[in-house]
Amino acid sequence: MEENNLDDKGQGQAANREPAAENPYRLLDLKLTKVEKWAAGVPAVMAAMRDLVEERTFFRGNRALLKMNQFEGFDCPSCAWPDPDDERSPVGEYCENGAKALAEEATTKRITAAFFKANAVFDLAKLDDYTIGKMGRLTEPMYMPRGGTHYQPISWDEAFKKIAAHLNQLASADEAAFYTSGRTSNEASFVYQLFAKVYGTNNMPDCSNMCHETSGSALGPTIGIGKGTVKLEDFYHTDVIIIIGHNPGTNAPRMMSALEKGKKNGAKIIAINPLPEAGLMGFHNPQEISGIIGNGIKLADLYLPVKINGDMALLKAIELLLLDFEKKSPGEVLDHSFITGKTTGYDAFVRQFGNYDLDELARHAGVSKADIYEAAQMMAFKQRIIVCWGMGLTQQHNGVDLIREIVNLLLLKGSIGKPGAGVCPVRGHSNVQGNRTMLIDEKPTDEQLDRLQQFFGFNPPRKHGYDVVRAIKAMHDERLKMLFCMGGNFLSATPDTTYTAKAMRKLSLTVYVSTKLNRSHLVHGQESLILPTLSRSDIDMVNGVHQFVSTENSMGVIEKSKGILKPVSEHLINETQIVCRMAIATLGSGSVINWQRYHDSYDAVRDDIEKCIPGFDNYNARVLQKGGFYLPNAAREGIFKTKEFGDRAPFTLTGIPDNTLAPDEYLMATTRTHDQFNTTIYGLDDRYRGIKNERRVIFMNPADIEKAGFKPGDKVDLFNYDDGIERIAPLFIIVSYQIPERNTVTYFPETNVLVSINNVVKESNMPASKYVKIKIKKHDPDIYKRINQL
Ligand code: SF4
Repeated sequence: MEENNLDDKGQGQAANREPAAENPYRLLDLKLTKVEKWAAGVPAVMAAMRDLVEERTFFRGNRALLKMNQFEGFDCPSCAWPDPDDERSPVGEYCENGAKALAEEATTKRITAAFFKANAVFDLAKLDDYTIGKMGRLTEPMYMPRGGTHYQPISWDEAFKKIAAHLNQLASADEAAFYTSGRTSNEASFVYQLFAKVYGTNNMPDCSNMCHETSGSALGPTIGIGKGTVKLEDFYHTDVIIIIGHNPGTNAPRMMSALEKGKKNGAKIIAINPLPEAGLMGFHNPQEISGIIGNGIKLADLYLPVKINGDMALLKAIELLLLDFEKKSPGEVLDHSFITGKTTGYDAFVRQFGNYDLDELARHAGVSKADIYEAAQMMAFKQRIIVCWGMGLTQQHNGVDLIREIVNLLLLKGSIGKPGAGVCPVRGHSNVQGNRTMLIDEKPTDEQLDRLQQFFGFNPPRKHGYDVVRAIKAMHDERLKMLFCMGGNFLSATPDTTYTAKAMRKLSLTVYVSTKLNRSHLVHGQESLILPTLSRSDIDMVNGVHQFVSTENSMGVIEKSKGILKPVSEHLINETQIVCRMAIATLGSGSVINWQRYHDSYDAVRDDIEKCIPGFDNYNARVLQKGGFYLPNAAREGIFKTKEFGDRAPFTLTGIPDNTLAPDEYLMATTRTHDQFNTTIYGLDDRYRGIKNERRVIFMNPADIEKAGFKPGDKVDLFNYDDGIERIAPLFIIVSYQIPERNTVTYFPETNVLVSINNVVKESNMPASKYVKIKIKKHDPDIYKRINQL
């Protein structure tokens, strides 16, 4: 194994940058390349292999890739896209991004205690996220004492004693919060939430609070389940697939294979997005000869370049036209028997269209009437429609309403709860859906808590806890004293970075269960612990038995996952055991839960999940079936069990938002490059968008650049003034791009600093990171002095 230190590649990357003095914001050497019109193909394979080489794990990594997403292998740690139920390709069931995620895990680069001894946290914090992430796998538990400058080694026993001492001295259990990132397995999630509840709190913020909470908030009350309704096969036999606010080429690349299959069987695809993403336009399937040497396949039959937050107007415009077509061809466009038999609120829904005018809606949407007409026509006489969406919708301030409007559209067409039709929120992180199913939720229902109470015999707390945004505010106000993070990179993932960093530094203890070093370890509480854990691809041995875990994908399939790689250190322990040892240390031998039993076998955890969570009957047997099993999903069968409306799905009345901007304001959406997964930065390029070797760029419309007196390539500073506070993201380069006027796009997490903690999605309380009002000014070399005062 190679040990990392700052003299190797990590330092090399940082040293390439302009000298910075006390300015941590540096530019690389931006090169603009061709904007791609299609995704995947040979370049994707090459990029994946390059990452394996860079992580010094070419053979080890390739061996693991052959097992990734296979029936007897392990689940990809990246996105939550499902694997085929029946056949899986022996050549590989993964994409470029899955391979990159695996390379990060399978890396042979290691960080030991010597690394932390040689590097003060203060110095490490000056490095960028890319450099920090490339240091290698964590290998032993580390502790930062109060007032310390360097992490130092600590034994596992001592680490758990420190956590227990902190937890036991808090005035109330609600002074602690337990964060979860999506990678956590079902088994670890279940014991983790159980521990939090036995300890006495529902403070369980999780990454759903930042990605698809909005989807759950909209779907639960309308179709009776906060999850998608389609299966993979539905994509193969459908009439129309609408992809809105989602970029499959980067965020769920194997979705493109499903789209390809659907297209070959005659489906039409409508892509709706402010940017014409390569992964929406075309696909070269690297597993087919035609994808390698041929022209690939055109994906979008119709691309609608909607303005940021113009989606509501666009959806209403399409609905208005469908209602109009129905008048001309009664009974042929809308599904009246479905509307009468399974929905409620149709008359009021239709009446509202008396207030809408197509010209006005098209203007709000930023899409031509001709294009909207074409979209409506493509679906008018079709019965099977699938709508997929991502964070382009869920992170809008009116995201919950947007998704309700999608439901409205599908209800009109009777296109939900039958084969080839339905809703498909595309989840970004593997097992983020499973975490929620396992009761990682700051607002568990009484029904869920009653089941735990009945089975375990303790009184779980009933008061709702903090979600991510509320947890950050509580840290800031010192109502929270301790944060335990099961995975993730809390600081980089969350909004309002300056505010959040200040909040985290106020905590008395931060604990991070991690595989690799990240920025959150460096912006820590007064004391801090880093607990290194196994990754999905690692062999997990417990008492001599090779364990497997299980996960739930975006389509509600529970499948087993068994790692195959020798761990990079003998000191790593799995997440379930970390929770159990924390529980034993904190709660003592008198706890109502037998934590040792869970510690020793995941079968025991699954046996108890089965007793407490519906749909998991015979869990241990069924999870061993080839491909696992589907969880029940009544909406998929056309049964809409909504709390308020009985067995009917309601049409919802929504409004068109006012997106007026001041003359010098722009709307900004944050996005990810093709070279990153959430907060993990694999590389510094964004191949499909033609960006090489830079992340501090802002995409602007050419007319806007000219009107503002800028030129492409100019250096600018970005500002947000929500809540009367100045927020600054300095030193960005303008890139001229095909994007609607007054709209801009920048990369996450660099511009999270501009997203106010109060800029949230109504009802779901998620950060509205795709709807941020900004001002753009010529770069001021003295801007850093102002930032230091913030
Ligand atoms: S599509 Fe998602 S789950 Fe599948 S291999 Fe790619 S990143 Fe992994």
